Amino acid sequence: MATETKTIQTLNADTLELQKFADLAHKWWDKNSEFKPLHEINPLRLDYINSLVGLKGKRVLDVGCGGGILSEAMYFKGADVMGIDLGEKALNVAKLHQLESGAQVAYQLLPVEQLAIEQPASFDVVTCMEMLEHVPDPASIVAACAKLVKPGGSVFFSTINRNPKAYLFAVIGAEYLLNLLPKGTHDYAKFIKPSELSSWARYADLNTSGLRGMSYNPLTQHYWLSDDVSVNYLMHTQLS
Ligand code: SAH
Repeated sequence: MATETKTIQTLNADTLELQKFADLAHKWWDKNSEFKPLHEINPLRLDYINSLVGLKGKRVLDVGCGGGILSEAMYFKGADVMGIDLGEKALNVAKLHQLESGAQVAYQLLPVEQLAIEQPASFDVVTCMEMLEHVPDPASIVAACAKLVKPGGSVFFSTINRNPKAYLFAVIGAEYLLNLLPKGTHDYAKFIKPSELSSWARYADLNTSGLRGMSYNPLTQHYWLSDDVSVNYLMHTQLS
């Protein structure tokens, strides 16, 4: 076999999806912007992750990190964090923000499949939040996350379930009725059932060990972790 230059051939990314986030990039840290829901769920997901893995001293990769909302929070829990995304503007905002916050996250513009070739089995924890529903081939992202984590390490995913209730809440409710998100943020066809995510994970030797719903009450504007995984959910998996 000829000497291989190990680079990925096609990018597992949707240009229009990346553009949607690029258009909003200046607002990543505005807690009253379109990113408000991410700021509000951040303490919940941070606590969930930290309670299961104990972030202090852990080497963590945040895949699709955006402006760094979760990356920074994990850094401030004592983790050594690397954040990757394919949105250049988001990464610039993330880098600028840490000048202000004092966080020291290593941000890089890099496809996760590429990093999996370059640094296999090198992270204790991998997180990939609210991103799988924006990519053409989510199973490939799941497989890359599995390659990046050390044996016994944890990979956390969060995404949106696919059923009529999820359509009603995540598309009609959030984008049309409550204006929490810009119209067109989410494409129902790309939503992912927990069973599908779990089987992609299983295929990559990741065992599902936890599943939690993220519920929202529009009247009180309150988010909490619940047993109801019918709309937004978080999944904890571990490499066997
Ligand atoms: N994970 C962050 C941001 C979620 S928004 C959080 O939960 O706070 C979705 C992010 O996924 C955006 O920053 C977008 O640029 C990124 N993204 C979309 N497609 C991607 C891809 N193929 N590879 C890497 N990042 C991608």
